[in-house]
Amino acid sequence: MPGFADRLNGISVSASAAMTDKASELRSQGLKIVGLSSGEPDFPTPDHVIEAAIEAARSGDTKYPPQNGKPALRKAIQEKFLRENNLHYDLDEILVANGAKQIIFNAMMATCNPGDEVILPTPYWISYADLARLGGAKVVQVPCRPENGFRLAPEDLEAAITPKTKWLALNFPNNPTGTCASKEDLESIARIMLKHPQVWIMTDDIYEHLVYDDFKFYTLAEVEPRLKDRVLTVNGVSKSYAMTGWRVGYCGGPRNLVAAMNNMQGQATSGINTIAQAAAVAALTGPQDFLKDRAAEYQKRRDLVVGLLNDIPGIKCHTPRGAFYVYPDITDCIGKQTTSGRTIDTDTDFVMALLEEKQVATVQGTAYGLSPFFRISYATDTDTLREGCRRIAEFVASLR
Ligand code: PMP
Repeated sequence: MPGFADRLNGISVSASAAMTDKASELRSQGLKIVGLSSGEPDFPTPDHVIEAAIEAARSGDTKYPPQNGKPALRKAIQEKFLRENNLHYDLDEILVANGAKQIIFNAMMATCNPGDEVILPTPYWISYADLARLGGAKVVQVPCRPENGFRLAPEDLEAAITPKTKWLALNFPNNPTGTCASKEDLESIARIMLKHPQVWIMTDDIYEHLVYDDFKFYTLAEVEPRLKDRVLTVNGVSKSYAMTGWRVGYCGGPRNLVAAMNNMQGQATSGINTIAQAAAVAALTGPQDFLKDRAAEYQKRRDLVVGLLNDIPGIKCHTPRGAFYVYPDITDCIGKQTTSGRTIDTDTDFVMALLEEKQVATVQGTAYGLSPFFRISYATDTDTLREGCRRIAEFVASLR
């Protein structure tokens, strides 16, 4: 058989996608699965966004767009960065891609050479690791300790930086822990990074609008303008505006980096779907009030889930202030057996047994680089969350 590229060695299928697929398969066999694995809002895309897309299609906005994004969308993004983040980017310092994921892909492919290192505060969204490896780089994990609320300790960051470090990838509010970085947290990270001018810094702000308890979101380039010429500020409409399927991500960054990424994208995919671009303009320039209402709803769900999980002996759950995930500690469940005689040696064993024996889909902590934990997405209705937590409680209570 003809062969495959070495660059795919060690590249995994996303664990949350694999779990969501497995849950769908079990559902098609007639099982009632409680789905808590998928990282996507259950809210609909707002009507005015959909209307803008229909209007774009009808009015003939159907030709090849500029590779880096239509001027109207880059203008809307420019205004968003100014309005919400106090950041000014020129239009040629902004790039639009097929989701934040392609922005990150472009960045890794445009900058990494074999031997380069990408620092990932851990746990991390699994795709960073695989995208870094696709770019030929080596992943360097920096543990964000649970006892520190999964925050990145500046001394741990500093210890991980070497002459080979190419990127530091920050993601607060974080997937999978929901941890946020305060202005002070970012200032202490900035103090370290100012000392290492050879390192690019990515801040993935995709969960920016999903913050609770009056948490005030800041992004690194805003907090430390002296870093702005090395920071890639990544964002997108997927999570904030419930637009995961439209595939619109964007970034602001130094002109030369954005040009290199655009070059990469130009050969891979060109400019993104024009209809989705019109939809994203409507999302970014239209009413923003509903973002707060949705965040308030997520906050209620967070409180519900954290409360129910902490009532379960054997599970410890922190209270994150952002995103829509919790990352409970299941140390006390490790080494035990299920009623059917399966031993729980790892968090993968835990989530597999939970799915097969109680039909609850979650994701193993191993996928995010820190064990033994598991990730629950609470981007679903409260009845589903109650039922999921009830089954998790039954499952954990049955372990011997
Ligand atoms: N960054 C993080 C931290 C995410 O959790 C996700 C989605 N799971 C993405 C980026 C990708 O977003 P997009 O839909 O814009 O590609």
